[in-house]
Amino acid sequence: MNAYTGNHLAQSIRKASLGRKDTPFIHHAGGETLSYGQFFANAERMAATLIDAGLQPGDRVAVQAAKTVAMLELYVGTVLAGGTFLPLNPAYTTSEIDYFLNDAAPRVFVCDPARTDDLAPVARAAGTSHLWTLGADGKGSLTDRRDTYAPGFHAVKRGPEDLAAILYTSGTTGRSKGAMLSHRALESNSQTLRALWRFTSDDVLIHALPIFHTHGLFVATNITMMAGGSLIFLPKFDADTIIREMPHATAMMGVPTFYTRLLEQPGLAQAARNMRLFISGSAPLLDETHRRWQAVTGHAILERYGMTETNMTTSNPYEGERRPGTVGFALPGVEIRVCDDSGAQLPQGEIGVLEVRGPNLFSGYWQMPEKTAEEMREDGFFITGDVTRIDSDGYLQIVGRAKDMIISGGLNVYPKEVESLIDAIDGVLESAVIGVPHPDFGEGVVAVVVPERGAELDVAQIMAPLEKSLASFKQPKKVIFVEALPRNTMGKVQKNALRKDYARLFSAQA
Ligand code: AMP
Repeated sequence: MNAYTGNHLAQSIRKASLGRKDTPFIHHAGGETLSYGQFFANAERMAATLIDAGLQPGDRVAVQAAKTVAMLELYVGTVLAGGTFLPLNPAYTTSEIDYFLNDAAPRVFVCDPARTDDLAPVARAAGTSHLWTLGADGKGSLTDRRDTYAPGFHAVKRGPEDLAAILYTSGTTGRSKGAMLSHRALESNSQTLRALWRFTSDDVLIHALPIFHTHGLFVATNITMMAGGSLIFLPKFDADTIIREMPHATAMMGVPTFYTRLLEQPGLAQAARNMRLFISGSAPLLDETHRRWQAVTGHAILERYGMTETNMTTSNPYEGERRPGTVGFALPGVEIRVCDDSGAQLPQGEIGVLEVRGPNLFSGYWQMPEKTAEEMREDGFFITGDVTRIDSDGYLQIVGRAKDMIISGGLNVYPKEVESLIDAIDGVLESAVIGVPHPDFGEGVVAVVVPERGAELDVAQIMAPLEKSLASFKQPKKVIFVEALPRNTMGKVQKNALRKDYARLFSAQA
């Protein structure tokens, strides 16, 4: 028995560090370190602050702030206090925050001090009873309050099915949906990954991901706490800083753009010498990046796949072949199947939508039971909307999002098939293939291509290999060269933005 007993997630993230209060948890670039004892003492004070503000079990604590240790303390403090943590991307505008606060009705909202003038009226109108601030320097009215409390909080009891967090999905179509994440889903997924990826108290993880998203908040942070390891906690991705810190680290979790940018750094091979593990996810890692990384560092990047609603679902193996262009196998305890639109399982090797079942699944969309029902099968499988295929050795490949599939002249075109061929052309860095309205074909295939720095490419060079290997309905009707693809903070290519930019490409000609 200890002060965290009875709170399902809190006891699991605390167990490894109990009795080791001086063990380092967070290293800041440049040397300063926070111990587990100090971190949890602050989290307990955050919990006391929330309880005094009237927080009831299940109440939401929303935060839109820069990445700081205090924000992590607020996450753990919210869990200890029995609340539901709700982090929001700092990029959201006032009108977007208005939607989230009205939808989630949090008791407390924490925002950047510079935004209080804008956001206070919005919070008041949404019925939020407390608005506190937290700046990029880790200071504000939230930490001022925290500092008036003594540590030693007894965690509020919460069972496996109680909610620990709500994360809003990026909402590329329609309204953004709040994925409800239970103590069970977060706890089981992080413990599974800790064991699979062999995290221990010796690990030092480079943490340069944002903490409003599942990858940086739950995968990176929970696993490290559950192992009793430590984080090199960086406010954002910066290639120079990472190269400087890497000799002190054992592992890194990143999105693919971390890896492509680090490959441009001359000191990478030397810096990576003590590293044990590089993990990538949240967006597809190019085969080319995988191969170049291995050539430079000697490490095969371990690519895994998941989403806000499912937490992590598959991973390449820790031991055994980490196959480029695949996301590996279902995690222990997680079931996957590739299905047609009706939910019938397809034979291995065929392309279809991935469905997932297991303790990792979310508990539904906040106040949208009809949306939840649309995406769940009766037997408990969640329809991910990711178009996938399982190869003959059982490795899962992500072909694209169902909504990105192109229907040209009534025929399906999977963008990934065309992109892979384009990416293999000499001088091409990467590409995105989209469908835009076309007067004859419904949708016309468009290839948006980024040449490598200094490479000179023309349309004929792109089209020649495609004409050889693709049926004509899959061939791009237009090739456009750009300097970079639009990406969000998690490194995902924003195909929506591209579709919008080129929406009138064919209608203008008609
Ligand atoms: P999010 O909910 O923001 O984490 O986005 C989840 C989506 O990111 C998934 O449904 C996939 O489409 C994509 N994704 C995540 N990991 C990978 C990966 N390793 N390869 C390709 N796509 C990925």
